[in-house]
This record gives sequence, C-alpha cells and structure tokens, in this order.
Amino acid sequence: MRVLVTGGAGYIGSHTTLALLKEGHDVLVVDDLSNSSVESLHRVAELAGREAGFVEANVRDEAALDAAFADFTPEAVIHFAGWKAVGESTQIPLVYYRENLGSTITLLEVMAQHGCRSIVFSSSATVYGELSEPPFTEDAPTGATNPYGRTKHMIEQILADVAAADDQLRVAVLRYFNPIGADESGRIGEDPKGIPNNLLPFVAQVAAGRREKLMVFGDDYPTPDGTGTRDYIHVVDLAAGHLAALGHLQDHDGYHVWNLGTGQPSSVLDIVHAFEKASGVTIPYEVAPRRPGDVASSFADPKLAQTELGWRAELSVEQACADTHRWQAANPNGFADA
Ligand code: UDP
Repeated sequence: MRVLVTGGAGYIGSHTTLALLKEGHDVLVVDDLSNSSVESLHRVAELAGREAGFVEANVRDEAALDAAFADFTPEAVIHFAGWKAVGESTQIPLVYYRENLGSTITLLEVMAQHGCRSIVFSSSATVYGELSEPPFTEDAPTGATNPYGRTKHMIEQILADVAAADDQLRVAVLRYFNPIGADESGRIGEDPKGIPNNLLPFVAQVAAGRREKLMVFGDDYPTPDGTGTRDYIHVVDLAAGHLAALGHLQDHDGYHVWNLGTGQPSSVLDIVHAFEKASGVTIPYEVAPRRPGDVASSFADPKLAQTELGWRAELSVEQACADTHRWQAANPNGFADA
C-alpha cells in the first residue's frame, strides 16, 4: 500500500514508518519537524534498506498537503502529528486546539478531495480519565481533564461524525497506553526536547548520567507499592498494531476503536527496577508529591484488538528498558549527536 504518515519523524511515527517499509509498503512522511528530527528518517532508511518520501510541512498547510496527495496518491493515512504535552496544553490551550483539531480537519478534507478513504488515528488512553476503573474496555465512558486530552477526545468524535456521514470512510482510532522502548538496533528512539515529562526518558537520562535522580510522583496511591501504575507497551509492538489496524480497514468499513496496551499494569518502582536490571545501573530516586492531574492506575483490556486484529503485545517491559537504555547510551543527546 501507499501510506501517508503525518508526524512520521517522531517517536511512534518513526517506528511505524520503519515497520511499514519492512513490510513492503511505500511511505510518504509529512512532518514539520517542530518536535522531531529528520535524522530519524535517515536512520529508518538505513534500517529498512529503503527510504520513505518526506515532505517538510505542517498538516494544516492545505496547499502542501494537497500537493503531497496529488503526487503520492496514498491509499491510507496514519495521523500521528500533534502536540502532546499535558502540562504545556494547560498553558497554551489555543495552540493545542488550533494544531491538533486544525490539522485533522484539513487532513480529512484533503483526503476526501483525493478519494483517500482510510485513516488510522493516534488517540490516547487519557480519554478514559477517572470515569471508570481499569482495565478499560473500548466502550468505557470517555472524557478528558486537560486541553491535550480534550483534543484527542474531540478528534475521536469528529472522526465518528465524519464516518457516520460518509459510508465510504474507514476509521481506526487507536488508544495508546504508555509507549516505551526503542528499536532494538538502538538507532532510533524517543528524543524529547528539554526535561522529559515521561517516566522512561527521564529514567534513561538518569541512567546515562544526564540527570541526577528521578522524582517519583507520589507513593500513597491505592496501588500495590503506592506508586502509580500504567500499561507500558513497547513501541515496536505499538507500531505492529498500526499495521494490523491498516490491514483490518482494507476489508472493513466504518468507525473502529481499539486499545493498544498489554493489559499488565507496572508501577513506577517496577519500571525503576526493570531499568536497573536491564542496564546494570542504579537509578537514584526520591519520592515527591503527586503530580497534579495524574490518575492512580491506568491499564487496558486488550482483548478486542486480539480478537478483531489478531494483534497482541509480545515484548516485555524488561526488553523495552534494555532497548531504551541501548538507544540512550549510544545517543546521549538524541538525534542532536548525529
Ligand atoms: N512519573 C514519575 N516521575 C517522573 C515522570 C513520571 O514518577 O519524572 C510517574 C507518573 O506519576 C505516572 C507514571 O510515572 O505514574 C507515568 O507517567 P508518564 O508521564 O510517563 O505517563 P502518563 O501516564 O502520565 O501519560
């Protein structure tokens, strides 16, 4: 297939682009490099033995997108591009609404103009919030507690409305739990700018000596060891989930939602210990107050994706920690080292 991938130079996008190329698909990446590096695509090409096309553009740039569709004639789109920092979204909410909603609306319009009928969208388990107890099934109640989460929730609703209005459109909404890890080559990985918000990049930078210690946000949650639990899924498994969803859309129309998670909760301290084991490095940490907005526990019921897509997460948290450590150790400053 010819697959247009927005945000394909980013963390999940680059791993998915690699998986698509390895499976023999043709890929065109559209990315404005606002939070990613084109070096990731050079390395994807090196790993795949062939390259994805690349257009440097914001997805809201209708003329650039129109030209990319005219030239590449994609049969399907995977839409990763978007702003994703919860804390930042509370400071500059309009940027989040403009970028995340605007890009999706422009993309859907250009897809319609070019007769492209399949879209896979990067949603998030954040839409489950605290409205019910985990494990979350896809029909659990949804909402959001911050502007970032609201953009994901709103885009899901926009996609459902557009699919209801157009019986040719095929939509897969993928609700990611907590993506971690890196390609086992250590050549591509997560490369956050500045101080990482997410647990794994922070732990990896502590292990690499770039940060002094981890702050564990709360140890008084109602969880087995008191620290928050999440469903950490290896990014290579996550990438495979996108290929499975794309495959499903080839012979199923309509609007679909699938969780991409393992179903297994791990605590912050479980991750610290797994990382220590994988890296052989001790991770100093200190318990700090809870982070505002955090939930105690979030993990998937992954059965629907297993039965409908034939997909399940295969790789362990230990494997993900080893892969993250390999990436971080070889690229202490991320793609800036290239
Ligand atoms: N966390 C932590 N210290 C950090 C970053 C995260 O203790 O420096 C905890 C956080 O409170 C949560 C878990 O690690 O329980 C995962 O947080 P992350 O930001 O990676 O993902 P989230 O689930 O919040 O999207």
